[in-house]
Amino acid sequence: MEGTIGSKGLVKKTELVRIITDALISLGFSSIATDLENLSGVNLLDPTIKQFLDLVKAKEWNKCIKLLQEEEGLQVRDKRTARFLLLEQIFLDFLKDDNLDGALNTLHEKMTPLGVKRRRLEKLPCKFVFLDSGEERFVEVTRKLKKLLPPAAIVPEGRLVHLLEESLDLQRSDCDYHNAPDTDMSLCYDHFCWKSKIPSKTVQTLVGHTDEVWFLEFSHNGKYLASSSKDNSAIIWEINAERGEFGMKHKLEGHKKPVVVVLWSPDDQQVITCGENEVIKRWDVGSGHCVHTYGRVDVGSISCGWLHDGSGIIGAMADRRICLWNLDGSKIEHEQGQRGQKISDVAMTSDGKWLVSVGREQNEISLFDRETRGETVIGVEDMVTSFSLSRDDKYLLVNLDTQEIHVWMIAGEPEPRKVSKFSGHKRSRFVIRSCFGGYDENFIASGSEDSKVYIWRRAFERGPCCVLSGHEGAVNCVSWNLADLHMLASASDDKTIRIWGLDLE
Ligand SMILES: [Zn+2]
Repeated sequence: MEGTIGSKGLVKKTELVRIITDALISLGFSSIATDLENLSGVNLLDPTIKQFLDLVKAKEWNKCIKLLQEEEGLQVRDKRTARFLLLEQIFLDFLKDDNLDGALNTLHEKMTPLGVKRRRLEKLPCKFVFLDSGEERFVEVTRKLKKLLPPAAIVPEGRLVHLLEESLDLQRSDCDYHNAPDTDMSLCYDHFCWKSKIPSKTVQTLVGHTDEVWFLEFSHNGKYLASSSKDNSAIIWEINAERGEFGMKHKLEGHKKPVVVVLWSPDDQQVITCGENEVIKRWDVGSGHCVHTYGRVDVGSISCGWLHDGSGIIGAMADRRICLWNLDGSKIEHEQGQRGQKISDVAMTSDGKWLVSVGREQNEISLFDRETRGETVIGVEDMVTSFSLSRDDKYLLVNLDTQEIHVWMIAGEPEPRKVSKFSGHKRSRFVIRSCFGGYDENFIASGSEDSKVYIWRRAFERGPCCVLSGHEGAVNCVSWNLADLHMLASASDDKTIRIWGLDLE
């Protein structure tokens, strides 16, 4: 079977048949694979190579050497190295059997004449000590011998699946608006996401607050949404699974000042709220009751966060300190000194390693290592108004006073580094919040003072790929549903929350 198949002349027919044969075997259809070999006359392996590999598998080292010497059709790139590797196995087998004479004889009579470098021979006893667990040595020599065969002689295990996966992966990474679960990918057609894969249509408007809505966040399981407002309250909204619509579950009332943030506990059973320059409250989501209040009588709180495991609360205080409490209100020792700047936002990474905080005055982000108590300070170009962490804790999304959003890589490299920046939204007076979202957090969404929601594709440092209109006041905060790639929520000064879904028309 000669020649190629396909319009580009790149795919050799014999190779295609061989990788199909390999795939049939791995799918458990060995007899069909044999039929294919017989019908096409194309063998998965050249018969001589198959004979050689069968002997290797049976650890018949002497027979391997004989075949290597006598069979000219056995194409091995470096026969001397192959011979040395096989003799090495014979030598190590003798040692294993305590046959010192046999080992020394193999070494002097057969291996030394091959003219191998002395250093390599001296390493042999070490190999015996480190590798002679039997199987490990066998795996290594098999791998080395296979490398000496021509590259096209052996079809690597699972080659067809590997090629197909590569093709799908390339389609996924080349997709401009990729926001679809992997289950949407198919081998039967080329993948492409239209712009409509981004939530862009208001599917519901939530009315419940009586003043500006400043913050919102979807629960981790995506079934709830929590919002907070200048009207001194927070609201827990619950989705009706059948209708797919949110309804008010509880209005959390008790703060005497506007509620700056409302944040879900890791298990979604509780939320904490922070009153502006007031106190932090913890609420039970099931009952809607306040279960604890945290704070100091002499100083108010600016922002708050959960400890990574939900076992405590972080408070950013107006006196430039960061306080940590256990759930029962007892204080946790925290050695981070008083900040030189007023803290505007605080959070802990999900592994509990880093405490991230930003300040309003000195243009810096602080990463405090809770184990080593060391601090990394990132200097930024302008005042940071808010930030959010990516789900994998590797990236920090930073909103700046200059109407720019910067993405910083804070893990995986020796030093934090800025990787991209985005602009287009409007911000002059208020705190505007943004978030990562969508498939693999491929997108960045942000509120804006011009009453719009802006969405950028994270991979491209260019203008927004989507601008959503509908609100009648500044959009202060956005949240992308972690459990639903196609759902986004926005909070506005117009007292409403908008739920955005796919525009299917
Ligand atoms: Zn796509």
